[in-house]
This record gives sequence, C-alpha cells and structure tokens, in this order.
Amino acid sequence: MPKSISVLIVGGGIGGLSAAIALQRSGHRITVLEGAKEFSEIGAGIQVPPNTACILDAWGLLDKLKENAVCPSSIIMRRYANGEIICAAQLKPDMTDKYKYPYLLIHRADYVKLLYDAAVDLGVKVIVNARVQSVDEETNSVILYNGKSFQSDLVIGADGIRSKVRRVVIGDNEIAPYSTNCAFRATVSAEVMRSDPEISRFMNDVSSNFWIGPKRHVVGYPIKDGTLYNLVMILPGVAAADKWNEFGDLNEMKESYNDFDPVLKKILSYVTSCRKWALAELPSIAQWVSRSGTIALVGDAAHAMLPCLAQGAAQAIEDSATLGILLSNINSLEDIPSILRIYERIRRPRTQIIQKQSFENCNSWHLPDGPEQRARDDAMSKADAFRRSETKVEGVKSPLQWSDKDFQPWLYGHNAISVAKNVLQEIIENPSSLEERPNL
Ligand SMILES: Cc1cc2nc3c(=O)[nH]c(=O)nc-3n(C[C@H](O)[C@H](O)[C@H](O)COP(=O)(O)OP(=O)(O)OC[C@H]3O[C@@H](n4cnc5c(N)ncnc54)[C@H](O)[C@@H]3O)c2cc1C
Repeated sequence: MPKSISVLIVGGGIGGLSAAIALQRSGHRITVLEGAKEFSEIGAGIQVPPNTACILDAWGLLDKLKENAVCPSSIIMRRYANGEIICAAQLKPDMTDKYKYPYLLIHRADYVKLLYDAAVDLGVKVIVNARVQSVDEETNSVILYNGKSFQSDLVIGADGIRSKVRRVVIGDNEIAPYSTNCAFRATVSAEVMRSDPEISRFMNDVSSNFWIGPKRHVVGYPIKDGTLYNLVMILPGVAAADKWNEFGDLNEMKESYNDFDPVLKKILSYVTSCRKWALAELPSIAQWVSRSGTIALVGDAAHAMLPCLAQGAAQAIEDSATLGILLSNINSLEDIPSILRIYERIRRPRTQIIQKQSFENCNSWHLPDGPEQRARDDAMSKADAFRRSETKVEGVKSPLQWSDKDFQPWLYGHNAISVAKNVLQEIIENPSSLEERPNL
C-alpha cells in the first residue's frame, strides 16, 4: 500500500486548488489555506489550452468545464490602427484534431468554482481567511497571521507571484517580481455587443482577437457561454503591485487606445467599469524545493510569466498533475525529498521556455511601426502556411507562438500526466537511472 501523507497547500488559486485535486486523488490528506476571506474571482476570462484540457479530462472535469466554456475558431492578430487581419491561427477543429483536446475560453469565476467544488467533493479541507505569515522548514509547519498553526508532512507553496513560501525555499536568493506593464480588464454584455451592427460580428464569429500595436495590445473574446465579451488591455505603466482588484480609471483606459482601430474603440466605448493591475513576472528561479526537501512551489510562486502565451494557469495545472502522479506511489516519508527534486527537474526546464516565449511574444507584439514590425507581420501572415505545409520549412520560425510549426505541438501536445507516469515507471523499474539524467 502506498503511504498516505498530510499536505498543507498555501494559496487557493488555480495552482493551489489543482494541486489539492491532484494530491487528494493520489490518496493524500490535503488542507488548503487561502488568505482571502472568500473565493471571489474578477469578472474576466481565461484561456484553457489543450495541454490543460487533457489534465482536466483525466480528472473527470472537462465535460463540466465545457458547460460554461466557449470554443473559439481562431486566434486573429490584427493591426492596431485599422483592425486589418495580419494572420489567423486556426484553433477549431485544428487543436482537437492534432492534440485530441480543444482550446477553450472560460470565465475565471467558473473555472475556480469548478476546481473548488471538485477539491471539496474529493474531501480536501479548504480553510479561507487563513493568511500564512511564516513557514518553518525545520518542522514543516506554517503560522497564520491570526496565530493559528498547522503542521504536515509536505508543504506546497501555491501563494502566487509574491509568495511567502518561496522565501523559505530559495532563502537568501530571494528575488523580486518585476513589472513594466499593467493590464486593464473589463467586460461588455453580449446584449450590448449584439445590439451594435458594427461590433456584433465579434459575438457571432467566436474568435480570440488581438489588436497589436506599439507598446500595447488588446485581447477580446466572448466568455460565459457567449453572454459576455471579455477584454484585456496591456500597456506600459504601473498599478498597485499587491492589489489585483483595484478599480481602473475609465478615461485613462479609453485614452490609452486613442490611436487604435475605430471598431475596437467602439467596443471600448461600451465599457462602464474596469480593473487595473500590475503585470509582473519572475526571473527563472534555481530551486523549487527547500533544502529540507519537504516544501515545494507550484504555479506563479515558481514561474510567474507574462500572460502573452496564456499559459500561467496552464503551467500551474501541469505542475499539480505532475506532483500528483509522482507522489502517488511513495512508501515512506523519506521518499518525499527525492520525488520533489524529480518534480523540479521535470517541470523547471519546460516552464523556463514558456516564460521566455511569453516574454518574446509580448516584445514582438509591441514593436513600434517600422521595418521590424513589417517583417514580423510578414512572417506572421505566413505562419499558418508554414504550420500546415507537409514539408518542413527549415529555419522558418513564426513570431506567433500559437502557430509555430515546432513550438505549437511542443506546447499543446504535452500531456503532463503521461510524462510523469513514464518517469514514475522508470523510477520503479530502475531507481538509479534517474540520478544519471540531470534533465528529464
Ligand atoms: C491579464 C492576465 C491574463 C491571463 N490569462 C491567462 C490565460 O488565458 N491562460 C492561463 O493559463 N493563464 C493566464 N494568466 C495567468 C494566470 O492567471 C496565473 O498564472 C494563475 O492564475 C496563477 O495561479 P496561482 O494559483 O499560481 O497564483 P494566484 O492566482 O496568484 O493564486 C495565489 C493564491 O494564494 C493566495 N495567497 C497569497 N498569499 C497567501 C498567504 N500568505 N497565505 C494564504 N494564501 C495566500 C491568494 O489569495 C491567491 O488566492 C493570465 C494572467 C493575467 C495577469
């Protein structure tokens, strides 16, 4: 019989809740400590790519997610000034045909509720209003601001980009998140969108539209079963670093896009309130596991990235699925440190590449008008042709990661559960083989 361990998860975001599901499914006893007073997500959308959909399917959650999700036909990149289409990367049915799983858009609140309900149904204990003040590596215990303390066999830090748990894991090497951009988020009701003939097409042809321009871009797509149009607007600037739900200034938001496509401005004219926050990322961190080997990081706490590849939450879920499989067959508490180090070796290289590509997407989308921008647009417009062509075009790299012939299958064709199962099988068959391979 594999050993059942107690696990404390600090943070009940998408990373913490998915880690709770994965680890409870593996027979462990999980407590999630969430600092907020209640689970509330802002009214915004999130993209759920095939590399997440396959994990949710394995957990029996994909059909439920689909009930509230929208399946877009394409990702359309547009020129900021006039909305002209630069390229369209097809998602439906391409993603399902190639990677067996769809690319979906969902409301964050629906996503978190799905994960929360699944965790609670499995028997996870979720405690809200439980903000962790400190973590003790020696005793594997945490102390809350209200003085309560908890102890467990394993502590998972899923407490986001400004993680307290990370400080214990990387010690003196603590790094600060950095940010040069901020984001406005808003929604417009489908009713309003549909009532205006100039913009109603964005509700009828369901796609994810990007208007990309110098130093800023806007993403728009329908969510909530097509009842809301979701907008994310990224631009240089600052917002309160620790307040994710701050109201934004509507005039500032609209004026920031003054020189954008008149059709987009029409959509923005219907926005009646918006939120603003800092868009921060982390440099790659060297350790995800404490020296004691009993504390590990998942999600943004380990690898916060810019949202320009829509993979932050997706990678958190891949982390969780990997941990769940690797920890499904431990025989004693002594196994935990070596398993966690294998987790880090599997996950760190992949998330490093995705962090870098997210950054590069953002840089490329924000080019000023000029020769580099024209070369980018030219390469993007050929991107789908490259990806679809049967013959491999050597040396051709699409600046749009969604379309790149090599990057797309690497990103979306990845099944973190299968990868972890293969590694686990190797450990069982030949434990020493893993020591010989620094990267998995
Ligand atoms: C504009 C934008 C768009 C995005 N779009 C996408 C997308 O389309 N697809 C995608 O996959 N990703 C996307 N992301 C990224 C994604 O939102 C994040 O990567 C993901 O939410 C990270 O989840 P997490 O659980 O690791 O961290 P968080 O969501 O930050 O959750 C951390 C949790 O820990 C709690 N917490 C913090 N400190 C403590 C403490 N001391 N004690 C107890 N609890 C604590 C917090 O209250 C919070 O609930 C986007 C991000 C942004 C900013």
